[in-house]
Amino acid sequence: YAEEEHSQDYLFKIVLVGDSAVGKSNLLARFARDEFYSNSKSTIGVEFQTQKMVIDGKEIKAQIWDTAGQERFRAVTSAYYRGAVGALIVYDISRRQTFENVGRWLNELNTHSDMNVVTILVGNKSDLKDSREVSMEEGKALAEVEGLFFMETSALDSSNVATAFQTVVKEIYDILS
Ligand code: GDP
Ligand code: MG
Repeated sequence: YAEEEHSQDYLFKIVLVGDSAVGKSNLLARFARDEFYSNSKSTIGVEFQTQKMVIDGKEIKAQIWDTAGQERFRAVTSAYYRGAVGALIVYDISRRQTFENVGRWLNELNTHSDMNVVTILVGNKSDLKDSREVSMEEGKALAEVEGLFFMETSALDSSNVATAFQTVVKEIYDILS
């Protein structure tokens, strides 16, 4: 088929990092399957999901890795980061401590990854307006200082979830193509 002649294989490994319970697994569940889990069971599952996307008419496979809860013990291994070209560093806008820990995750990422990883800072749970502890401006400011993309998302109401993943994939594609 003509379609196949034009299709080129792009496979981008993208990792999800950030403190426990910020919503990493649910961001992936929302993006890949349009599902949401009100408890944390979603963490127990596959180590990555592959999502097909089309950019500039090219088919791209985003292989998105999720932790299996190791982040709770600060035990995310270098194998997790190996070969990653993109990352989402996620915090919870309703828990300030998860934002304070972003720097630690950035260090982890820089230590374990062998190349420049396209990274977006993601303030998740934007639906929790009444319990917000981190303003959008603070998130933006940190991202600017660290040279990261930035977005607030909600895996619960879906806002900006696809856009966050697509931003990373598009940037990787632009760099590599
Ligand atoms: P992980 O440990 O970072 O993978 O976090 P989970 O995806 O397991 O989510 C932890 C908890 O936060 C679960 O109870 C989710 O239902 C909840 N959660 C995840 N994303 C959101 C969100 O965008 N809004 C709200 N209100 N809750 C969320
Ligand atoms: Mg999880």
